Amino acid sequence: MKYALVTGASRGIGRSIALRLAQMGYPVLINYHSRKEAAEQTRTLIEEKGGSAELLPFDTANGKETDEVFTQWQDEHPGDSVAVLVNNAGIRMDNLLLFMQNEHWHQVVDTSLNGFFYLTRRALKDMLANRWGRIITISSLSGIKGLAGQTNYSAAKAALIGASKALAQEVAPRMVTVNVVAPGFIATDMTKDMEEKNLKALIPARRFGQPEEVADLVGFLASDRAAYITGEVISINGGLYT
Ligand code: NAP
Repeated sequence: MKYALVTGASRGIGRSIALRLAQMGYPVLINYHSRKEAAEQTRTLIEEKGGSAELLPFDTANGKETDEVFTQWQDEHPGDSVAVLVNNAGIRMDNLLLFMQNEHWHQVVDTSLNGFFYLTRRALKDMLANRWGRIITISSLSGIKGLAGQTNYSAAKAALIGASKALAQEVAPRMVTVNVVAPGFIATDMTKDMEEKNLKALIPARRFGQPEEVADLVGFLASDRAAYITGEVISINGGLYT
């Protein structure tokens, strides 16, 4: 069986991506960090639509834990592999650089960037052997433009773009594509404390995006039809930054 693994799939954008990939016929591995109930809800939503899913909790920032959980999953699923990997888990801990604490820098970078490294390295092996794979990573407008108050987040999200472009060139001969999706403001828990009314005025589309809209783009990149797209960064931001 060929699985899709989505990190941070208990809520928000990751949940919508998990649902989309399940609709495409993939059994989905729902990674999350701490909110088991939310992850179970994602699984229920997938099952209600006739799909299948398993929970796979681990902290993306923890390389040892990621390795252990992935190895255990492989041991319990001989012959199965991850064909689509979506590196979606991310956090923000905003502050001006002058006041930023070490742990706020490291937690944000570890969760997104180091998480990409630990997990992609593991999932890639089977993709290369099978000569087919999709690695899609969720960056951000913040990683392209830079946003004040987000030096940690902008650094992590920009680095994901560099890493994906380099990896895309390494693995293209084996029909593994590596792409990045860079959302602007999307209506999830991550943005619920933001001043939506004021921010909407800055967005040419005059609204926040929906997680399902990001999921549709990820679904396309995961499909066979996107086989010739690799090393790309695709923005989805309602025209906020072009
Ligand atoms: P969200 O609603 O806050 O959900 C975050 C998800 O990531 C949750 O499933 C959470 O799991 C998981 N997660 C957090 N830390 C983790 C860790 N250390 N290990 C494993 N899972 C972890 O966020 P979202 O808005 O859907 O964002 C998803 C991605 O899109 C993030 O990378 C974010 O940076 C990016 N993004 C979002 C926006 C936006 O406007 N929302 C814009 C640009 C980019 P738990 O439920 O267990 O905590």
